[in-house]
Amino acid sequence: MNCPDVELKPKAVAIMVSRFADFETGRNAHPSQAKIAAMCGYSKTEPVSNILSSLRDDGWLYRDGKGPTLPNGRANDRYRLTVPDCGHEHDGSALPDVLK
Ligand SMILES: [Zn+2]
Repeated sequence: MNCPDVELKPKAVAIMVSRFADFETGRNAHPSQAKIAAMCGYSKTEPVSNILSSLRDDGWLYRDGKGPTLPNGRANDRYRLTVPDCGHEHDGSALPDVLK
């Protein structure tokens, strides 16, 4: 996550999502937006939802389904960490740094 094109707030959200991903694969991250909001200091989920959308658009996250069904009958979005072709030639070796 050392891309100079990513601003601080999206970077914080991406790092929080990455902490829920499987370390070896960067897959299977399905934190609730409420949890991400709490971890990043937002009182509402709306900004988190917008940032997740922009991270998807920019190629840092891929939404590949849903996490397990929760007791309330709903399920969180499930993400895979991805590295965009943003011109800086980041490669997969950046992912472990993201996960620290
Ligand atoms: Zn970059």
